[in-house]
Amino acid sequence: MEVSRTIMGQRQRRYRETYRERVAGWYNGWLHVLIIYLAGSIALYIYGANTVDVQWWEWLVLPLGFISYQISEYILHMYVMHRPRKNVVLRALYIRHTLMHHQFFTKEEMRFADHKDWRVTFFPPFTMLGLTLLSIIPSLAAGIVISENTGWLLMAALTASYMFYELIHFCCHIDDNWLVRNIPLINTARRHHTAHHDHSLMMGVNMGIGTAVPDWVMGTSDLDRGLWGHLFNGYDERHVRTNLQKPFKTTDSKHAVPTRQAVEARS
Ligand SMILES: [Zn+2]
Ligand SMILES: [Zn+2]
Repeated sequence: MEVSRTIMGQRQRRYRETYRERVAGWYNGWLHVLIIYLAGSIALYIYGANTVDVQWWEWLVLPLGFISYQISEYILHMYVMHRPRKNVVLRALYIRHTLMHHQFFTKEEMRFADHKDWRVTFFPPFTMLGLTLLSIIPSLAAGIVISENTGWLLMAALTASYMFYELIHFCCHIDDNWLVRNIPLINTARRHHTAHHDHSLMMGVNMGIGTAVPDWVMGTSDLDRGLWGHLFNGYDERHVRTNLQKPFKTTDSKHAVPTRQAVEARS
């Protein structure tokens, strides 16, 4: 099954066919999403149930933890998911993102054909477990140094921020509709991420997926706007910079995205 009324090129079309042939027949996107959000919801419930008599200042850890995750996601995207590393785990992230996700979706065709295509966008279900283990370190430190409540709230903020990221990225790859076009933040993320899927820009432009704010701070956004504009730009194309650095010439260039075989041959 493929999306209709598409302008995608032959390379992308062929890649999609190859990728789909490799996906196990039993894969179900709905089940994948259910596992992520059920596990996340149970975790959030447990973290919340462990807090006692939260003080007003302890709530501040929620936005701080949420933003910290989004910044970490930006750094991971910029320096790991688009740069092949020697470490086997980091390299797997690069292959999955640059060599799979960016070949499956280009700015010409950003849409899933059906739920089986969700596999190329959502992280595997065990990511939630890995994130939880990583979150324990700063949360334990906060729990010991500041207060027990801040430790539990930090765990909750990091988990919720990951769930938010997955939701936003998913919304970037569904067909356009009235809802996603009009919900603030989601409409901004859709335009922002579509520009990132331009092969000539993807190595260094619009690296924030959950939010465009880190791109605004780091000067890697394709927009010439302030903070407010980066939050609520929506689909507006009027502020797109015209002097963007384009390391690759065209999206259909043979060299825009290396093939997996080419990368493996180089290492
Ligand atoms: Zn994407
Ligand atoms: Zn990317």
